[in-house]
Amino acid sequence: MVSELRVRFAPSPTGYLHIGGARTALFNYLYARHNGGKFVLRIEDTDIERVIEDSTEKIMQSLRWLGLDWDEGPIVGGPAGPYQQSLRQDLYRRYASLLLDRGLAYKCYCTPEELEAEREKARAQKKAPRYSGRCRDLSLEEQQELESKGRKYAIRLKTPDQGITVVDDMIHGEVSFQNEEIADFIIMKSDGFPTYNFACVVDDWLMGISHVIRADEHLSNTPRQIMIYRALSAPVPKFAHVPMILAPDRSKLSKRHGAQTVEEFMEKGYLPEAIVNYIVLLGWTPPDATKEFMTLEEMIELFDLKRVSNTPAVYDVQKLTWMNGQYIKARDPEVLVSEYIPFAARRGLGTVEELQQKKEWLTKVVISLQERAKTLEEMAEMSAFYFEPPKTYDEKGVAKFFLKPNVSELLEKGAQVLAQVEEWNEENCEKAYRDLIAKEGIKSGELIHPTRLALTGKTVGPGLFEIMDVLGKDETISRLHSAAEYIRKLK
Ligand code: GLU
Repeated sequence: MVSELRVRFAPSPTGYLHIGGARTALFNYLYARHNGGKFVLRIEDTDIERVIEDSTEKIMQSLRWLGLDWDEGPIVGGPAGPYQQSLRQDLYRRYASLLLDRGLAYKCYCTPEELEAEREKARAQKKAPRYSGRCRDLSLEEQQELESKGRKYAIRLKTPDQGITVVDDMIHGEVSFQNEEIADFIIMKSDGFPTYNFACVVDDWLMGISHVIRADEHLSNTPRQIMIYRALSAPVPKFAHVPMILAPDRSKLSKRHGAQTVEEFMEKGYLPEAIVNYIVLLGWTPPDATKEFMTLEEMIELFDLKRVSNTPAVYDVQKLTWMNGQYIKARDPEVLVSEYIPFAARRGLGTVEELQQKKEWLTKVVISLQERAKTLEEMAEMSAFYFEPPKTYDEKGVAKFFLKPNVSELLEKGAQVLAQVEEWNEENCEKAYRDLIAKEGIKSGELIHPTRLALTGKTVGPGLFEIMDVLGKDETISRLHSAAEYIRKLK
């Protein structure tokens, strides 16, 4: 176990998995896979009040959907379990008492009011508010007296008053912290629950974690954690703090910057491969920096913490959406159609069962939209016209293409020549139309644009003859007649 490379992703179930969390999980996963180590999932649910009911489930679902399977953790188990902090409370208590027994930690009876008064005083003296260490040297009698009055206690770690604690970070290099700035801090709260720093260290130690790869925001916790490792005489793991993710305007990422949870992206019809590919580039560059598209296998092969930047990464949902479009374009249509069906069902285009029955036809629908749709939700939206004739026609299109002279006649002629097509396919439809265009001596747009509007209700979309092929002969002709009729009524 000693020499084994072990990393962990340790989300708090206080919400769904967001892009930043997914990126941390991915870096851990890749580092483990690249080095033949183990990837552990640990749920940090000690902060009971902030735990959101279904978020552990959702986080795990999102990780699985992204393809980031864990070797040890909830569901799969493992030798260092349980992997949920709420099930490990006795361990935290045990090690807190051990530190008390060794005189490396002490009971603190200060009430929140007393602590606030201390901070207030420090502020008045323009000093940084830090715990004074009042309870550090209480005698046993003093402790007993306080307890007899019903005072509850927290447990604080004795921190060194002088010197520095150095975090040797794999991404940031050596970062020094002045010990005098780190007051004795709480490891067990008066309600009997551990603080994040303590639970995290006890777990990382007992789970044999060799490398702690986590978000930058935890760098300031790390000297405290190192103090806990030392007090426990536990080996200090290696640390790698991955850079923050900012919005395109370099502000802190917030809801107004659009979707951010993996769950939301799943709902909108992004492909997991696209998300993984996009987030791996948030702070990491492959050796060939021009290489943008990578499979998970390639990422495993190439990933290295040395190429993780120490400056913030910028998250741009438009780039992600573009990338998703590229993945949709490159997807095997047979696979894509199954992914599209639930979105089509949600769009009201039929039940999943009904749509499954039409899979062969839907594959053609999907192929015709693959070049254009950026998400599966968009694809379902764009595909609606294949299922039912247009109820209305695009207003600008009507003004531009339907209100010209002789358009209804032209569409009727189109319907006539198409009726003669024996073997219905893209090429034959196109040939029939090209012949008609030549015969009429018109520009191709004069027939093609109104036909598109007649068939789809819109002015843009897939190739016209592809549309005809997918719609089928009867439906195409019927829509041309309906449009001709509509135009005649306009006049
Ligand atoms: N539960 C912490 C978080 O979600 C984990 C921090 C760590 O990886 O140590 O931010």
